[in-house]
Amino acid sequence: MTENIEKKWQKKWENDKLFESDPNDKEKLFLTVAFPYPSGAMHIGHGRTYTVPDVYARFKRMEGYNVLFPMAWHVTGAPVIGIAERVRRKDPWTLDLYENVHKVPKEELPNLADPEYIVRYFSSEYNEVMHDMGYSIDWRREFRTIDPTYKKFVEWQISKLKDKGLIIKGEHPVKYCPRDKNPVGDHDLLEGEGVGVNELTLLKFKMDDKILVTATLRPETIIGATNIWLNPDIEYIEVDAEGEHWIITKEAHHNLKHQIKDLNIIREVDPNDLIGGFVENPFTGDKLPIFPASFVSGSYGSGVVFSEPADAPADYIALQDLKNNKELIAKYHLEDIIDDVNPINVCSVKGYGEIPAAEIIEKLGIKDQNDPKLHDATNELYKVEHRKGIISEHIPEYGGKKVAIAREEFKADMIDKNMATTMYDFAERPVICRCGEDCVVKIMDNQWFLKYSDEEWTAKTHEVLNGETIIPKEVKNNFEYYIDWLDDWACSRNVGLGTRLPWDNQWLIEPLTDSTIYMSYYTIAKYLRNMNADDLNPAFFDKVLLDIDSDDVKVDDETVKEIQDEFNYWYPLDWRLSAKDLVGNHLSFLMFHHSAIYPKEKWPRGTVVFGMGLLEGNKMSSSKGNVILLKDAIEQYSADVVRLFLMASAEPWQDFDWREKEVLGTKRRLEWFREFAAKVEEVKNSPLDLTNIEKVELNRTIDIWMLSQLNQHIKEATEALDGFQTRKALQESLFLLKKDVDHYLYRVKHLLDSQDPAIIYVLSTVLEAWIRLLAPFTPHTCEELWETYGGEGYVSQASWPEADESLVSPKIEKSEELVQNIIKDINQIKKMVKGNVEKIHVYLAPDWKWDLYEIAEEIGKPDIGQIMGRAIGANIYDDKKEIAAVAKKIGREMTKTKYVGKIDENQIISDAIDYIMEETGDKVIVHTDDSYDPENKARNAMPYKPAIFME
Ligand SMILES: [Zn+2]
Repeated sequence: MTENIEKKWQKKWENDKLFESDPNDKEKLFLTVAFPYPSGAMHIGHGRTYTVPDVYARFKRMEGYNVLFPMAWHVTGAPVIGIAERVRRKDPWTLDLYENVHKVPKEELPNLADPEYIVRYFSSEYNEVMHDMGYSIDWRREFRTIDPTYKKFVEWQISKLKDKGLIIKGEHPVKYCPRDKNPVGDHDLLEGEGVGVNELTLLKFKMDDKILVTATLRPETIIGATNIWLNPDIEYIEVDAEGEHWIITKEAHHNLKHQIKDLNIIREVDPNDLIGGFVENPFTGDKLPIFPASFVSGSYGSGVVFSEPADAPADYIALQDLKNNKELIAKYHLEDIIDDVNPINVCSVKGYGEIPAAEIIEKLGIKDQNDPKLHDATNELYKVEHRKGIISEHIPEYGGKKVAIAREEFKADMIDKNMATTMYDFAERPVICRCGEDCVVKIMDNQWFLKYSDEEWTAKTHEVLNGETIIPKEVKNNFEYYIDWLDDWACSRNVGLGTRLPWDNQWLIEPLTDSTIYMSYYTIAKYLRNMNADDLNPAFFDKVLLDIDSDDVKVDDETVKEIQDEFNYWYPLDWRLSAKDLVGNHLSFLMFHHSAIYPKEKWPRGTVVFGMGLLEGNKMSSSKGNVILLKDAIEQYSADVVRLFLMASAEPWQDFDWREKEVLGTKRRLEWFREFAAKVEEVKNSPLDLTNIEKVELNRTIDIWMLSQLNQHIKEATEALDGFQTRKALQESLFLLKKDVDHYLYRVKHLLDSQDPAIIYVLSTVLEAWIRLLAPFTPHTCEELWETYGGEGYVSQASWPEADESLVSPKIEKSEELVQNIIKDINQIKKMVKGNVEKIHVYLAPDWKWDLYEIAEEIGKPDIGQIMGRAIGANIYDDKKEIAAVAKKIGREMTKTKYVGKIDENQIISDAIDYIMEETGDKVIVHTDDSYDPENKARNAMPYKPAIFME
C-alpha cells in the first residue's frame, strides 16, 4: 500500500518535471552533496547523506526559492580496477562480498570483471534507489566522470592550474601500493585511513665494514645513545645502499626500496650474531653495545633502534628488563658490559628531573616493555619535550637550545657529514591497499603535484573559507588547520579510470583532483550531454565559465550565451554537503581550486559536514558486511519511514545509529499522523477541504492555546531547518507538536462528537500546516494526505507554513501550564494525605506578589536588596517582613521559571474547573483571598503556583 503510494507520487513528480530547475526570476539556491563512487550497493549510511540535501532542497523550494539539486557519479580512480581484477581472479572474499552484501545476482557476478561494467551497474542502481527514496533531483544534469564531455572540462581545469604554476613536477614521498604501482589516497585503503607520513632521520652506526642504520624522529637524542636494540626474533638483511652495507630488517627493505634507488639485498643476517658486538656512535665516537629487545618492530623505520633511555620510555624499560634477565645476559655474554650502561641526561624539561623516562614510567605504572601503556608514555613525553624541552647545559655546542630547534640543526649537520640520511614511514601501521597489499612510502620523482604548500594559494584559500558558513561551526578550525598544513598532492596516477594529463599523456588525473570544481559542471551539464566533446575546447570553457573571449570557440554564440547565462544564474554554490572524513582532502581541495580558478563572486558560500553511521551501535562497513542496503530498508519500511528515521535520530553532523526498534517506533509515529488526518475528517463529519477552511473566532483558552503551540513549533522548526538541524526541526514539527495535539484532543474530548466549529477550525488548521511542515521529510505521505483532504496542487510546491507570531502567546502557554500543574500538584498531594479528601481549596497569589515578581523581572537578577528597595519605594504592600520572604522565594524561582507577565489565574481556573475536577475526582474551590484559610496555607500562594489545601 505504502509502496504503491510512493511509486505513484514519484511517477507524478517525474511526469510533471517538478524538480527540473531552470533559471527564472526567483531567488536561486544551488546545493550539492559529494557525488557517490558507485563501486557497491547503496546502504542506509548513504541514505542519510543524500536525504539531508533533499530535505533542505524541498524546504527551500517551499519557501519560494528556485532550487537546484543535481546528482552525478564519480567513477574515476583505481578501486574498481582492483575489484574487477579480484572478480576475474575469482577471489572468494570479493565474490562473497558482492553476492551477499551488495546483493548482486549470481548471474551478474562475472560481468563485474569489467571495471566500467561495475560503475555502470552500480550507478544505475544508485539512480534507481535515489528515485525510490523520492529525492528531488534534477536528473537532466546527471553525468559520469568518464563522459567525454566531462573529461574536456577536467582537461580545461587542470590546464588552468598548470598555467598558473600550481602544478609542478617534483620529488615527494607518497603513500603507494607496490602491487598496483599507484599512489593511493584514503579512498583506496582497506585499513590505515588518515594515517600520516613521518619524516625520520636515518642515523648510521658503523660496525666494521657494515652500518646499522636506525630511524628516529628525534636525532638530537643521539647524544644520549647508550646501545643499539635488535629484535632476535625478526629477519634482518644486509643491503647495498649506494656502496654502503646497511643492516635493516626485511620488512624495512620492502618500504625503503621505494625511497632509495638500487637498495639491493646482499645476504640474510642473523641478529644473534650481532648482539653482544659494538657499533660506533657517529656523533660522539663512543662504542655502543648491541642488545636484544622484543619491543623493536620489524616494520617501523629500519627495524634497528638506538637506545636513549633518559627520554625514551621504551628504551628505559627495555634496559631495566634486560638488567633483570640473567638468562639473556648469559646467552649473549653481556655480564661485563651491562652494568656500565646507564641513561645519559640530554634534555631538561620543567616538571621532570634528570631521567624523564624513568619518572613517566613510574607515574603510569608501566611494568615491562610489552605494556600497552608504553605508547601513551612515549607520546606524552615526546610532546612535552618538543614543546618545552631545552638541551641540557653540559652538552657542548647545543646546550641551552630549545629541543625543537636543536633537532633541525642536528639533522642538517649530520646529513651534511654523511652520518645520516632521511627516510619516510607511516606514523602507524598497518596501511593496507584495497587490493590487500601492504602500502609503502614511495619517493616519486617524475610525478605531478598540486602545490597546496604554496603560500599565496594557501592565503587565498583561507579567504574562501572566511567567506563561507561552516556547519557545524567548530569544524572551521579543522579547515584552517588542513588548509595551512596540506602538503603538495600527487595528482597523477598510473592506473585507473579517468582523464589523462593533457600535457603528459602517460599520466591519469587522480580522482580527488578531477572532482574539485565539478559543481559548476552541473549548471551546464544538461546542454553538454548532447554536444560533441571535440567542440568543447579550452576556449569554450574559458568563455562560459570565466567570460574570456576568444576566436577559438567552436560552438555558436547563441548557444554559448545560453550556457553561460545558466552558469552565471546558479553559481556560486550555496551549500556543499559532505562527510567529515573529507574535510582534510576533498572539501579543502574544493576551496583551493575555487580560489585558483574562479573570481571571488563565484566562491562557495557554505559547507555542511556530516557524521558517520552506526548499525545497532557498530560502525557501518560494507567490506565487513555490517550494513543494511537502502533498497531493502525501503522495501521493509517504506522510503518515508527511512527518511524520517534518518533525519530524526541525529543532527546531520552527529553519528546516527540505525536501531530496528527505533525505526519501528518511527513507523508507528507516521501511521499515527495518517490516522490523525482521518480523525480530523471524522470530527468534521463531512469531507475535509484544506483549501477552504472555515475561519472561526476563538474564545476558549484551549483552542487559542493549540494554535499558539502550532505557530511556536512552526517558528522553531523553520529556524532549525535553516541551520540544517533536521533532528531539532522534527522534534518541533513532529514529536512536540504531536504531544500538544494529543493533549488538545484530550482536553476537548467531550466536544469531539458535537461538530464544534472552533474545534473543527483548530484541527483543520493544524492538519493543513502540519502536512506542509512534514512534506520535506515524508514527501510521499504528505502528497497523499494533501490530495486526499483537498490541498491544492502538489504539497511539494505548496508554500512553507509561516509562523503567525501574533498567535504565539506565552501567556496562553503559561495558562495551560497552570491548569496542568494544579492537577499534577493535587494528585501528588493526595497520594501523601491519609484519609478521605472532600474538598480541595486552591489559593491564588494576591496582586502585590505579582507586582513584586514584575519588579524582580525588571531588575533581571535575584538581587534581593534591590528588589526589596524598589518594592518598598513603590509601596506595593505594607508588611516588609512578608515582602522580604516572598522576594527571596522569587529570587530562587526566577532563574527556573520564565516570567511572562500577569495572567488571570481566577479566570483560567474557572474556565477549566470541570476538567480539573474530572482529572482529580474532587470538588475544587478557588480562593482569591484568605477569608477561609483554616491551616494558613494562602500565604504560600505564588504567581503561577497557587497554594493547595485539602479537607
Ligand atoms: Zn593495491
